[in-house]
Order: sequence, then structure tokens, then C-alpha cells
Amino acid sequence: MSYPNTQLFIDGQWRDAADGKSLGVFNPSNGQEIGRVAHAGKSDMDAALASAQKGFEVWRDIPAFERAKTMRRAAALMRERADVIGNMLTQEQGKPYVEARGEALVAADIIEWFADEGMRVYGRIVPSRNLAVRQLVVKDPVGVVAAFTPWNFPINQVVRKLGAALAAGCAVIVKAPEETPASPAALIKAFADAGVPAGVVNLLYGNPAEISGYLIPHPIVRKVTFTGSTPVGKQLAGLAGQHMKRVTMELGGHAPVIVCDDADIALAVKSTAGAKFRNAGQVCISPTRFLVHEDVRADFVAALTKYAQGLKVGDGLAEGTQMGPLANPRRLTAMAEFMSDAVENGAELLTGGERIGTSGNFYAPTVLNNVPTKARIFNDEPFGPVAAVQGFTDLNAAIAEANRLAFGLAGYAFTSSLKNAHLLSQRVEVGMLWINQPATPSAELPFGGIKDSGYGSEGGPEALEACLNTRAISITNV
Ligand code: NAD
Repeated sequence: MSYPNTQLFIDGQWRDAADGKSLGVFNPSNGQEIGRVAHAGKSDMDAALASAQKGFEVWRDIPAFERAKTMRRAAALMRERADVIGNMLTQEQGKPYVEARGEALVAADIIEWFADEGMRVYGRIVPSRNLAVRQLVVKDPVGVVAAFTPWNFPINQVVRKLGAALAAGCAVIVKAPEETPASPAALIKAFADAGVPAGVVNLLYGNPAEISGYLIPHPIVRKVTFTGSTPVGKQLAGLAGQHMKRVTMELGGHAPVIVCDDADIALAVKSTAGAKFRNAGQVCISPTRFLVHEDVRADFVAALTKYAQGLKVGDGLAEGTQMGPLANPRRLTAMAEFMSDAVENGAELLTGGERIGTSGNFYAPTVLNNVPTKARIFNDEPFGPVAAVQGFTDLNAAIAEANRLAFGLAGYAFTSSLKNAHLLSQRVEVGMLWINQPATPSAELPFGGIKDSGYGSEGGPEALEACLNTRAISITNV
């Protein structure tokens, strides 16, 4: 299947950058250039800002009931087009086709959930101290939202932001990832084809720092939402703070997995192994630090290693592929550094630990055992297919290790004891904790972190609330 060139989307029109500049897009399975993406300059950004302001003034005045109808049409288009969109997502990002197609289908669910939730944005009437006064609390859309999204889930990271913002009545400028531009553009196209008025959604690509540096301080932008690394998130949150913009930050993670001695080991392996190697580990909620009770560690590690060795790694479009390449060559370099550091520090390499072949960014599913706390892989986000295991004997010590890092995004725990489950749910410092199950980040649940993993939420009513202003209005009868 062919792969399209990607244009900017401004004021309801697909267009090249005003100065004609574009960037190459590469297939991570073979390193070949498969297309181009337009690279916005200042005049494109100005056009997107003016378009978004105009779009906002139209969209906010359309009743939520009608907005929901349009959004549901976009969801239906995503379902209809999932095969084609999945194919282009695999070509640009590498993940297996079944996951890529699934991402397009999940986007439809997310859009529908937000469309419906948008109809339940209620204010309240507050009893007044004076009977002649009626006191209202109202919720209004915050305005134009600038959304910055990364390459690991090119559709999902956009649709969570877009779904919440559009349901709330906001207009959006999406700065989507240059490395994986066609699939987020297909999502925007679904909204355009569904009949979202011109200007309500806008799409830019270019130099990320240049675009965020221009849009965030701009008076038209009222809210900033970013998914990416913690260092970049801190920089953007700082800039937004200087300009008093509302902010949602979905940043890095280093998810602990605590496997207690009373856990169902088969369930623990089944729930976390799939998640570990999904999208080649390039997932912010990927299980990373496996803290396994010494009494069950040998069994757990053996099963995890067997799983990793059985995975079929290859081109995401090839039949039967279970894990694709890393999305870009930077990740290969990062993996090599993590690996040499871990082994130098005494970790035991059970499987993987090396690049596969010389063409494409393939890396072997890897399991490291006896990983010392000082190893970099136990401290920095690996964002790759590496499970790092350490043993424990005291659950409180495992919880302390889980909480040692500044990250606080996702966590996993396995135990058959209600007492342990209760303790874990109270003490593990993460925004999302899954006990005795794999991750289920559905649209209706809050999605987001605490501590250095960011703030705000990209799921549940909280995601909508983050796109709304709360205002108090008092009316006196005269
Ligand atoms: P990076 O930190 O430079 O980029 C991460 C994302 O942020 C990219 O989409 C990039 O376009 C964007 N970005 C970078 N600087 C920006 C700026 N000044 N303004 C606006 N956007 C900006 O590095 P990378 O090599 O792409 O990824 C490396 C690390 O980023 C990973 O190891 C991982 O920790 C993190 N990351 C996290 C997520 C996530 O889902 N939370 C997604 C992608 C990357």
C-alpha cells in the first residue's frame, strides 16, 4: 500500500508550508524514505492561530448535542478507514499492523466517549443569601488549545487531547510528530470529513521547539497540553506558567511491577509480558522495574524469558509479526547505552540485549535479572523492549523502591492477599495502578501521572474539566 505525503491543515484547507519546506519520513523497518511532511514556518503558525480563534468562536456556540453528532461521524469514519490508517501507521512508526489498526479503532471509542461526556457538562445553582439573587456556576470552553504529541502512539496521543477539547467546545491546534505524520493527519481528516467547521481543528508540523516557543506565549492560545519526556515537559510547563496558560502534562514513566510471593505467577507474566514488549516498549506506561519476591523470582523470570524468546520480531506489515522495530535510530543508541551500563554494573542478561540485523531499527526483546539499583535502566526511562528484574523479600522495601524515582505514572502489582492489595493501593505513588491485571487505560478512566510524570488527566470527566473555565454569575431581580 502506498504512503501519502502529509500537509498542514489550516482553516479547513490542506496546504503545503508557505515557504514550501518539507521533511523526509522514514520507515523504521528499513530506513527508507517513504514520504514528506510539510514544515510550518511563522506565517503558517500565524494562519493556524487566526483560524483556531475563528473556529473557536463558531464551535463554542454549537450546542453540545450537535457537536456530539459531528464527533460521532468522525468516530465512524475512523472505524471505516482503520485498515488504511493502520497500514500507514505501521509504515511510519513500525508497530505491528494489528496494533496500528487497533489504535485507529480505539480512537473511535475515545471520540464517542468524549462526544457523549460533552453533553454532561453541568453547572450548578447555588442557594443565595438574598432571595432576590440567583447564583449560577457555569462551565465554558477554555478557548484555543495547543496540543503537542509524540511518535509512539501518533493517533492515540492526539485523539485523547482532541476528544476532550472538542467535546468541551474548544478549538485546537495540534502539533503532531514529524516522524509519524500521516496517521495523525488521517485522524484530523476524519474530523474534517465529519463536518467540523473550518478552523476548529488545525494541524502543524515543523520544528517542535520553534512551534511550542511561538504558540504557548501567544495570547490566542489559552491551554497547553503536551505528551513527551519529563525534561521537555518541564520546559513547556515553565513557559506556560509565565504566560498563565492552563496546562496538562503527560510525561515519562518508569512503571514498577511488584510481584508478591502469593501472586498468581502465570497471570503476572501474562499481564505484564505482553505490555512490556507492546510497541517495542515505547510506551509511557510500559512495565519497567520488575520487583519480584525472592520465593517466586526464578519461576517468574523463566516464564518472562521464555515469552521474550518466543516473540516474532519483524516488519509490522509482515504476517505474524508480534514486535516491530524501534521507531527511530535514537532508540537503538539509547538501548546500547542502557545495556552496556547494566551489564557493567552486574546485571545478568538472560535474553536479547542486542540489535537484530543491520537494516531497520530492530532490537531483541530483552530480560535482565539481578539488576542493581544504581544501573541506569533502573533510573532512566528506557523506552524500549527491556524488562529489568530485581528481587525483594519485604513488601515495604519493594514499595519504597517503587516510589524511589521521581516518576509516578503507572504501576502494576500482583498478589492474592487483600491486605497486600490494600497496602499497595494506598502506598504506591503512581497516577494509575493496575492490580492483578494488565493495563486498561479506557477513555472513562483518568489517564495521567503524579510527581515528575506530570499533572492533569487525559481521560474521564477530569480530561473535559481541564478544557473548561468555571465562572460564577450572580443575577439580582430589579
Ligand atoms: P524528545 O524528548 O526530544 O521528544 C519527545 C517528544 O517531544 C517528541 O514528540 C518531540 O517532537 C517533542 N518535543 C521535543 N522538544 C519539544 C519542544 N521544545 N516543544 C514541543 N515539543 C517538543 O526525544 P525523543 O527522542 O523523541 O524521545 C525520547 C524520550 O521522550 C523517550 O525516551 C521517552 O522518555 C520520551 N517520550 C515519552 C512519550 C510519552 O508517551 N510520554 C512519548 C515519546 C517520547
